[in-house]
Amino acid sequence: VVHWPFSATQRRKLNWVQLAGHKGNFKAADEGTILKKFSENEMQCFEKLKEDALLPFVPGYHGVVEKDEDYYLHMTDLLVNFDHPNVMDCKMGVRTYLEEELVRARERPKPREDLYRKMTEVDSAGPTPQEHSQQGVTKPRYMQWRETMSSTNTLGFRIEGIKKYDGTCRTDFKKTRSKQDVIQVFTDFVEGNVNVIKSYLSRLSEIRRALKASEFFKRHEVIGSSLLFIHDHTGAADVWMIDFGKTTALPEGQVLNHNIPWQEGNREDGYLWGLHNLISTLESVSSD
Ligand code: ATP
Ligand code: MG
Ligand code: MG
Repeated sequence: VVHWPFSATQRRKLNWVQLAGHKGNFKAADEGTILKKFSENEMQCFEKLKEDALLPFVPGYHGVVEKDEDYYLHMTDLLVNFDHPNVMDCKMGVRTYLEEELVRARERPKPREDLYRKMTEVDSAGPTPQEHSQQGVTKPRYMQWRETMSSTNTLGFRIEGIKKYDGTCRTDFKKTRSKQDVIQVFTDFVEGNVNVIKSYLSRLSEIRRALKASEFFKRHEVIGSSLLFIHDHTGAADVWMIDFGKTTALPEGQVLNHNIPWQEGNREDGYLWGLHNLISTLESVSSD
């Protein structure tokens, strides 16, 4: 039984919200911090980000800790300074899988019934006549199809999930694709508060500036990373870059443009193009 008034830790547990990933991947930690299940790749990103122009836009990183025989990355809880926050996770880029994942998926491209079912649940018209008759879809086909359903391919970002201050949560954005759809979701998210949109826009411009200056960004394929939007009733509003689990260093000497179309082999992620579209979408919200 939890009694009012809550202690800081209890309050934080009640407010903590996770909009993506497996539920077991996060644990509460000391005041104002959280633990995310360890990955070597993400740890290396946080280490490199310590010396990068992006540092002011990523959660504070406090090293690797062991808890209950598992390893975790210890980081700042971005929600801690907000009162009943509204939170949105926007996954950036024109694709959300690594090129190497696509290559691996092609190695044994046998039709899978589970993927066929997942496809028909989102769109009964998704499978081709052949896929319907074999009741199966291959993994690479599924991976590429999925990106065409949301705004990932068309806008270079997609909404993963939203939690409102009242506790309501939505993650059913798999088919939110058009700019108009996204404008509607953002308008609902901020409940028409144009000042919040303006704060978000100025933070996104700072992020864009930092990305253009960042050595880290130049040398990494940034896949599956999100911008986390947070605001509350006081008008406080902020955006942070999170989730570097699939952000992968390029071979020495190679760099990405992040603004040109992806063709298999060029490893481009469309991150800057997506950010441009996101900014333009938010500008439409604030001028309505
Ligand atoms: P996936 O790869 O499926 O997106 P993941 O396991 O890599 O998931 P993240 O995307 O890093 O996990 O985080 C999942 C969710 O947890 C985010 O959408 C966000 O709601 C919350 N979250 C992550 N990091 C923080 C943080 N530092 N502060 C506050 N909330 C966070
Ligand atoms: Mg994520
Ligand atoms: Mg991830």
